[in-house]
Amino acid sequence: MSFASLGLAPALLDAVAAIGYDTPTAIQSAAIPAALKGRDVLGAAQTGSGKTAAFALPMLHALLARHGTRRGVHGLVLVPTRELAAQVGDAIRALVQHLPSTIKVSIAFGGVSINPQMMALRGGTDIIVATPGRLLDLARHNAVKLDGVATLVLDEADKLLDMGFADEIAEILALLPAKRQNLFFSATFPSAVQSLATSLLHDPERAQVDNEAAHEPDIAQRAIEVDGPRRLQLLRHLLKEHGWRQVLVFVATKYASEHVADKLRRNGIAAETFHGDFSQGARSEVLADFKAGRMTVLVATDVAARGIDIAQLPVVVNYDLPRAAADYTHRIGRTGRAGASGTAVSFITPDAEAHFRLIEKRQGKRVPRERIAGFEPSEEAVAAAATSLAGDPNGGVKGKRKSKKDKLREATAKQS
Ligand code: AMP
Repeated sequence: MSFASLGLAPALLDAVAAIGYDTPTAIQSAAIPAALKGRDVLGAAQTGSGKTAAFALPMLHALLARHGTRRGVHGLVLVPTRELAAQVGDAIRALVQHLPSTIKVSIAFGGVSINPQMMALRGGTDIIVATPGRLLDLARHNAVKLDGVATLVLDEADKLLDMGFADEIAEILALLPAKRQNLFFSATFPSAVQSLATSLLHDPERAQVDNEAAHEPDIAQRAIEVDGPRRLQLLRHLLKEHGWRQVLVFVATKYASEHVADKLRRNGIAAETFHGDFSQGARSEVLADFKAGRMTVLVATDVAARGIDIAQLPVVVNYDLPRAAADYTHRIGRTGRAGASGTAVSFITPDAEAHFRLIEKRQGKRVPRERIAGFEPSEEAVAAAATSLAGDPNGGVKGKRKSKKDKLREATAKQS
């Protein structure tokens, strides 16, 4: 399928060509024709699928068509994080830059002073990409009027709810005209996301990217068994062995990010941290350095890393597993974007084995366990984890036949 066959205005086809997109991604082919007809869209798409253009192109198409009529906010895009706000806003601006008419795209997020954002909104805007809390603040200050919004986009709806924005979204919906188009995108569909979609969408076109299809991001998942204290050495070993130049390493806490980055630096590896305490300026700077290849390893926590978009990021390492299974999908989705292939390596310490099984269950995919010579987990740690699992009724996965390894672990545990 080609962009030309989707029904987009010629100016948009030129813009798409100018930024170098040859063929539409699966979610773009599925969502764009329906959105152009004015239908609501329910998009099941991962980060990296090309979903931004899937909603931005129809939005811009409608804007071009209403050229000359009164201008208010036409398109509202709600996103969960400031990084995603900046990324989505920039992606839309990149398209707009190549259009013949002037279309103003504004970006608003919390955690920074509101005044410059209010100033920037003076004189109106065509499209606003915002996090929910800050958008409400701006609306309360009368800096933005939402009663003329023609298209509402919820981007990463699952994350929006995970981050506790349900009330803010409800408040924002009350400010929008009842008659509007809704484009709803989410990577996962737990029941809260389902019910939000049901309440929001009218007879939506389902744009589902078939997970089994060739469009699935090409991410090789690896799970390496290792003892907790040896993870750092294993990471260094892998960096050296594979010659990785750009690795995003996920850890559980800010403290862990400092610790791991510090240890790597002591070993001569260029590493920086990326966590929630950073100012927006510091975040942008670190990200820019990482993208430019000025460091090898970026050690990040989940909150900070949402929305990071680095074209061609080859490797993601789960040094600590994410607490929520959904975050696993988001983390590994940082690699293998838009057709590039990537590797996601998870370190599985003996006490994280049960948790990783839940993650596998959630993603519907098994990842074979590996051991690397010299880094095998010690029998003591495996036995200790098995003992604590046996005592924890929620630790194991119910209703599954015991694996050979489970039986072995139980036997070992009994002996000790
Ligand atoms: P997204 O999922 O919207 O964050 O997009 C992921 C990456 O894919 C971004 O770097 C986009 O610039 C890129 N991208 C989106 N659509 C296409 C396309 N049709 N062809 C090539 N790259 C694309």
